[in-house]
Amino acid sequence: MPSRYDLRLEPDLTTLTFRGQETVALEITETVSELLLNATELAVDSASLENDRGETIRASATMDEATERCRLALASPASRGRWRLRLAFRGTLNDKLRGFYRSVYKDPSGVTRTLAATQFEATDARRAFPCWDEPSFKAVFSVTLAIDPTLTAVSNTAVVGETLENGRKVVRFADTIVMSTYLVAFVVGELEATEPVLVGRTPLKIFCVPGKKRLARFGQEIAAASLAFFEDYYGMPYPGDKLDLLAIPDFAAGAMENLGAITFRETALLVDESAASHAELERVADVVAHENAHMWFGDLVTMTWWNGIWLNEAFATFMEMLAVDAWKPEWQRWTTFGVSRAAAMSLDGLHSTRPIEFPVTSPRDADAMFDVLTYEKGASVLRMLEQYLGAVVFREGVREYLRAHRFGNADTGDLWAALGRSAQQPIPAVMDGWIFRPGYPVLTVSRDPGGHLVLSQQRFNYLREPLPPAQAEPEQPWQVPVQLRLYTGTQTVEERVLLAEREARMRVGTGAEAIVANAGGHGFYRVRYAPDLLEALLTRVETLAPIERFNLVNDAWALTVAGLMPLTAYLDLTARFRGERDRNVWTVLIASFYSLNRVLEPGDRRRLAALVRDRVRPAFDALGWTPRAGEDELRRQLRGDLIRVLGVLGDDGEIQTRAAEVYRAHLTDPSAVDPNVLPAVIAVLAHVGDAARYDDFLRRFRAATTPQEEQRYLYALAGFRDPALIRGTLERTVNAEIRTQDAPFVARAMLMSPDAREIAWQFVKAQWDTMDRLYPKHGMRRLAEGVTGLPTPALEADVQHFFAEKKPQFGGKVLAQYLEQLHVAVMLRQREGDALSAYLSKFA
Ligand SMILES: [Zn+2]
Repeated sequence: MPSRYDLRLEPDLTTLTFRGQETVALEITETVSELLLNATELAVDSASLENDRGETIRASATMDEATERCRLALASPASRGRWRLRLAFRGTLNDKLRGFYRSVYKDPSGVTRTLAATQFEATDARRAFPCWDEPSFKAVFSVTLAIDPTLTAVSNTAVVGETLENGRKVVRFADTIVMSTYLVAFVVGELEATEPVLVGRTPLKIFCVPGKKRLARFGQEIAAASLAFFEDYYGMPYPGDKLDLLAIPDFAAGAMENLGAITFRETALLVDESAASHAELERVADVVAHENAHMWFGDLVTMTWWNGIWLNEAFATFMEMLAVDAWKPEWQRWTTFGVSRAAAMSLDGLHSTRPIEFPVTSPRDADAMFDVLTYEKGASVLRMLEQYLGAVVFREGVREYLRAHRFGNADTGDLWAALGRSAQQPIPAVMDGWIFRPGYPVLTVSRDPGGHLVLSQQRFNYLREPLPPAQAEPEQPWQVPVQLRLYTGTQTVEERVLLAEREARMRVGTGAEAIVANAGGHGFYRVRYAPDLLEALLTRVETLAPIERFNLVNDAWALTVAGLMPLTAYLDLTARFRGERDRNVWTVLIASFYSLNRVLEPGDRRRLAALVRDRVRPAFDALGWTPRAGEDELRRQLRGDLIRVLGVLGDDGEIQTRAAEVYRAHLTDPSAVDPNVLPAVIAVLAHVGDAARYDDFLRRFRAATTPQEEQRYLYALAGFRDPALIRGTLERTVNAEIRTQDAPFVARAMLMSPDAREIAWQFVKAQWDTMDRLYPKHGMRRLAEGVTGLPTPALEADVQHFFAEKKPQFGGKVLAQYLEQLHVAVMLRQREGDALSAYLSKFA
């Protein structure tokens, strides 16, 4: 049992290598002749055990790369008691964005620079130093970094000493709290930092590479606000001695919650507030709040094993919403969260979905947990539970859980126990169906001849072909907390019921003219209204809350894709939302138009464009190009969204012409164009752009001065339609022009685009092995998601054939999910293709 690591690392940014020494305090609990710990891609030069009784035992190290372990054969057995394990080792600063790795960037004068950073979750601490690399082996870490004197070093805790030794700057950091190996971090490079702000007793700073400090203000503001929010919510001070947030130029994930030294990709931390769109600011606020939430939930109390990642991430996502909602109520973060919930429901409607929590044995399975089911479904069911128990009762349970398990490890069951004590009711009965079973129900809402409300539930699936008996699960009903709103005359009444049966008949609502069966929109279920009830809702749609309108459209679209509602009925329904002004409702409408564009016969594209203009133009015309005084941020963002869909999918010539004018105005005066409109204008100009425009955007991508500007031009490169330009962008995903942290997403976007997908698919197939070599760990998994954008029978067959040969290892059920999503879209095409063609013939 390790209890303390004294760790000294000496990275060399010129040779891209590092040397390390560590002393691990161990409790040996039975006499052993060998020790087994995790290590990979390291060379162990020496190993020995010693104790306070003066005994020293030499050990010889053998690496087993297949199991990522180091075996230390002891020259003589070590008896029970306290020992110190001393190791010396070497490694390389890799370019795969995991373990101890290098990140390369250009400084303000255009000179290429290197920094070294770490990314350890889930199982990559073992790439930086030999360790017992599992979350329950918590220990204290005392880190020392010996670096080039011109550089800066950051680790989890405050610097307690700095000396010069043999031309190296030796930086010693304070002891950490007892924590898991995956939370250890060090960053070494030319870094600049903001002045600290003090939150309670905690100094909080933002670090970035030189020249970008001016982009740190917004991130620091939400970091301070959310840290204070969490100290209050959790009823417990921040567990570290300082908090640094670091923007790393190459970063595989969004961010990583290393205690006291949170690392981010630049777009998730640095932003120019005056030039950023609402969506870009929201992203920074979300990610910063999310990571801060982990400082307690994850870092202070940690899952016992990787099957608990879901609770770690779901909870941080839930808390992120609470904190951002408290900070900027006008952003209506819980309404916007509907979009995230919808993404989870979309994946969870597949036969190849998985339960939120499942057994994890291999690192790959742990990696496969990082998906929308963990984050978004997990957070959704926690929100559903919070609303069901009441916010105060829920918070009390969370506080008790943290108090009881701080500095330790805990499981889902421990949280349920704490919440159950707080709520004085058993939680597992309600929650187990949502956590340990895959999928979710669709509630059918109707009325019987006696006027009783009839609620029934069954699992929602996009595909209904029967499964082989072995796979078919016995259908247990879920315990569904249902929030009803009943409209009777001018009165509305809310009722809460727990639907635990397959079907329930209730007296509530007798005489009601309309019923909302997911009032407040928190439920993780779909609703299928009987036609008369749906019509009754549509006639009073403006009285529904935005999240309820969102769910109404989102459920209707899902029922259509699943074959439970005719496509023509859905398209008619979209006409009822021409007056819609909520950005989230438009998000789902627009996404459904894009989905249809992917399954359409090419000859019908022009007519779909006309339908899009018919549906979207009235809303846009009401908004106009220029923000009005006092307009809120969501309205401004909606304007950008509508311009984009009209100019791209709607092929609206007037919008396209005007976009070019607006862009010219922006070039002479950057403040002339609203930051929410500019990204849309860039996307529209790419869609209609020629080679000259492409070269201009490429130049601007290279010269961008903010991470957001760089992203806009980067993704614009994926939006050009000329085949030569499409090939040009694809080439850049493998020739180091696009960072490997971004390249998989660019290629994915091109697979999803009907204009680029055939060329992109040929390219991806040909370059698969190269990409696999170049991209960071999750890169191929993200890229491969793009095959869901290839829904023609011929492409689907080719995709299946390709993956049958390649057998990519994405972990979990990821590949099966992509293939099923693709098949769902192909089935929609086959089932509704003719009806869609006929419907569109009205739009010339
Ligand atoms: Zn997280």
